[in-house]
Amino acid sequence: TENTDVPIVIIGSGYGGAVSALRLCEAGKKVVMLEMGLNWEKAGIPFSNLLKPGKSSAWLKKKSIAPFMNIFSLTPFTGILDRLDFEHINIWVGRGVGGGSLVNGGMAVTPKESYFKEIFPDLDADKFYSHYFPLVREELKVNVIDEQFLKDCPYYKFTRVGEEEAHKAGFKTMRVPNVYDFKYMEKEFRNEVPRSALNTEVIYGNNYGKNSLDKTYLRKALETGNLEILDLHRVQTIQLNDDKSYTLNVQQIDTSGILVADKVFNCKKLILSAGTMGTLQLLLQSHAENNFPVHEKIGKKWGNNGNFMTGRNWVKPLSGGTGAKQSTIPVGGIDNWEDPEHPFFTEIAPLPMGMDVATALYLLINRVDKKGEVTYNKTSQSLTLNWDKSNTVKMKENAQYFIRKMNKANGGTRSHLLFNNGFGADICYHPLGGCVLGEATNEFGKLKNHENLYVLDGSLIPGTIGVNPFVTITAIAEYCIENLIKQNEFV
Ligand code: FAD
Repeated sequence: TENTDVPIVIIGSGYGGAVSALRLCEAGKKVVMLEMGLNWEKAGIPFSNLLKPGKSSAWLKKKSIAPFMNIFSLTPFTGILDRLDFEHINIWVGRGVGGGSLVNGGMAVTPKESYFKEIFPDLDADKFYSHYFPLVREELKVNVIDEQFLKDCPYYKFTRVGEEEAHKAGFKTMRVPNVYDFKYMEKEFRNEVPRSALNTEVIYGNNYGKNSLDKTYLRKALETGNLEILDLHRVQTIQLNDDKSYTLNVQQIDTSGILVADKVFNCKKLILSAGTMGTLQLLLQSHAENNFPVHEKIGKKWGNNGNFMTGRNWVKPLSGGTGAKQSTIPVGGIDNWEDPEHPFFTEIAPLPMGMDVATALYLLINRVDKKGEVTYNKTSQSLTLNWDKSNTVKMKENAQYFIRKMNKANGGTRSHLLFNNGFGADICYHPLGGCVLGEATNEFGKLKNHENLYVLDGSLIPGTIGVNPFVTITAIAEYCIENLIKQNEFV
């Protein structure tokens, strides 16, 4: 077994990992990043689109795993989209250098200040809204669609219809910023460059246009010369050594998932950025298998960020529906957050099926009144999620209210085509919590009961943030790593 000593290891290359890597490398630290997924840029393999799921579409599975439009014969490959199936909920995550930024829809939403203050009462909200949020919007290359382009482009009929109908039903809409380069999209529309968002590319990767982390934070970090990214390296367990350093048991795999080498990494400082589910798996499994110390708060306050999918069929079927051509990048939302009875935010989502299905898809984000808990089952060697229908009662009520009001004003039916009963309570894109900032960790993400271990990813957020989460995850990571470096944690 190969045995390597390195000063700082980061596990995972999503938002938390990419921010930590850049700031540590800028401070002159040598960093090794271990990522179980593939480095797609280096591999030079193109991503597939929604209509033709291929290599990138699923993490080592024999069929594709999107919420809709699946095919059933894939050769297992280390694709970028994975689905973790629990009893009452399925959680989708990204795998690859760039983590969730490779698969996600790029919606870059800053949370409402009042809700941010409610969720993080101990953080200095002024500093976040004047400094960290603007900083991450800049680093992530967040931009907004041109209103005239939106008005004219046939690929955004679904947004125009969605907004019109929302207004008719008395809802307020909002423009949603994105990391997809809208100037690039205008060029694709004019056929000056290869198409991506206008060629049904999303969740299996975007070949062009999207500023995922490999093009922003990670690229900058690599340019310092201080970062080494080892892809297809999956950390199995962590051990705490007597001198308070860590030993990682790592498996290197090939693109068909076959073990290439068992490796051991020893590090003085360890940052867990494996995403909410990945970080919890590492901590709880290491605890169960080799007595790795974990604080009692680990696994507590888990939530689905109020994710609740629903849809409507027969939306304007006679006047052209929602459009046969659809951009994959959402730019519209309905903001009902201030309604005390039914507070929710919903994305007006595309459904680019290559034909006009006259169907509208919505991903609601709700408050999470009742949080869940993640534990580890030693027998099945997997995570258990304490989460069922009782956790989503209010979310379903909100979805029902929303669909009824939309249908009453505009016609249409609840979408039984997309979901059983018209409701997708079991679809989660935003797992959050389990290592809550200031509870399982100190105020800057250093894990309690440890001296050299930090958690910097979505698990710091207590189960809900009221909007799509990556802007918040990135901002919190910036705040934590800045302060950890200032406190000389990494000398
Ligand atoms: P991640 O981005 O999940 O990164 C974790 C990384 O760690 C992964 O690359 C993983 O492979 C790696 N890893 C895990 N375990 C190990 C291990 N044991 N060893 C080595 N590596 C490991 N959010 C938004 O804000 N806007 C959106 O529009 C949006 N759309 C989404 C659409 C989809 C389909 C999905 C699935 C998510 C979407 N999200 C969106 C959510 C967003 O992508 C996530 O919240 C975000 O990526 C989480 O960031 P993170 O830093 O916590 O971890």
